Amino acid sequence: MRYVVGLINKYDAGKFPKDLKEMGIGRVIQLASNENPYPPPEEVIEAVKKEVLWINRYPHPEYRDLKEKIAEYCKVDYGMISIGSGAMDILKVIADVLLEPFDKVVVPMPSYSYYTFVSMLRDAGVEEVIFEGYRVNVESLSGKLVFLCSPNNPTGNTVDEKTVRDACENFEYVVLDEAYAEFAGKSFVKLLDEYENLIILRTFSKYFGLAGMRVGYSLSNESIAEAIEKIRSPFAISPLAAKAAEVALDNLDYYERVRRKIVTLREKMRRELENYYYVYPSEANFLLFKHDRENLVDEFLKRGIILRDVTGLRGLEGNHVRVTVGREGEVEIFLEVLREINED
Ligand SMILES: *Cc1c(COP(=O)(O)O)cnc(C)c1O
Repeated sequence: MRYVVGLINKYDAGKFPKDLKEMGIGRVIQLASNENPYPPPEEVIEAVKKEVLWINRYPHPEYRDLKEKIAEYCKVDYGMISIGSGAMDILKVIADVLLEPFDKVVVPMPSYSYYTFVSMLRDAGVEEVIFEGYRVNVESLSGKLVFLCSPNNPTGNTVDEKTVRDACENFEYVVLDEAYAEFAGKSFVKLLDEYENLIILRTFSKYFGLAGMRVGYSLSNESIAEAIEKIRSPFAISPLAAKAAEVALDNLDYYERVRRKIVTLREKMRRELENYYYVYPSEANFLLFKHDRENLVDEFLKRGIILRDVTGLRGLEGNHVRVTVGREGEVEIFLEVLREINED
């Protein structure tokens, strides 16, 4: 086995409702994975039901219909799009396409741990650079590749345009992860016209409520896009998932209504959390807060609420918890438990 496999930490996906059910907890509220808590619109469900009749057949490996919809949605050329089985899968393919052993990769922290994971797997030299509150500045940094995330997971803030430009000037390649961009209403897709070395990552898992379907895509200049398309698994996306994603893009009004609801609930959660903790600024569908209680996450867990303990993530000093914005009723219960825990 390769030496590096022993060195890499297993990706920690947090706790799942199934884990709590096995602990004998009845009512479970999942606020740990930044999913959209609302289901996709009925049109998506119906389309998937129809598509299921064809699952004895392979999907077309080019996924032309899906890419045409994405091209229209993102206002980019068809040839700039690559697809994959979730953004995580594309991250791995990007590392395969770009990285040689010992290449210098910069990962501003605190951020998504999978960037380091995929880079280490290619035997790259990863440098995690800490920026307080993910206020990234790459003016004086350089290397083969830098990973930016906007809005950033887990802090929730976006990066500014100058940071993306600096990154594109100073690094051979830039991966900008926009998994949560729709929640912020802020994207850097227009910079693709100016920078040949910029790769933007998107997903249907968060905003479009299709985490279980595993559909992600990247936008980049055509030669990078072609390389990703060549190296990815030929039938990377199930035909059910491709169909779901296509129909989701036909229902943008629905998602805009859901977005507004989520933003309102996020601000409500923020106000209440600020009574007890420091809460980071967020433009995403989750909040990061700092606390000083030893077992806060367990206190919530006992009461059926799953939060993401991000304590120990490089760049975060002290205890930190990330909480996803849930549905209205879920947020109510979360806030009740919050008060209960803090007032005993
Ligand atoms: C959730 C998440 C992803 C993974 O998305 P998938 O498409 O479900 O693989 C990628 N990047 C960030 C920052 C995320 O939070």
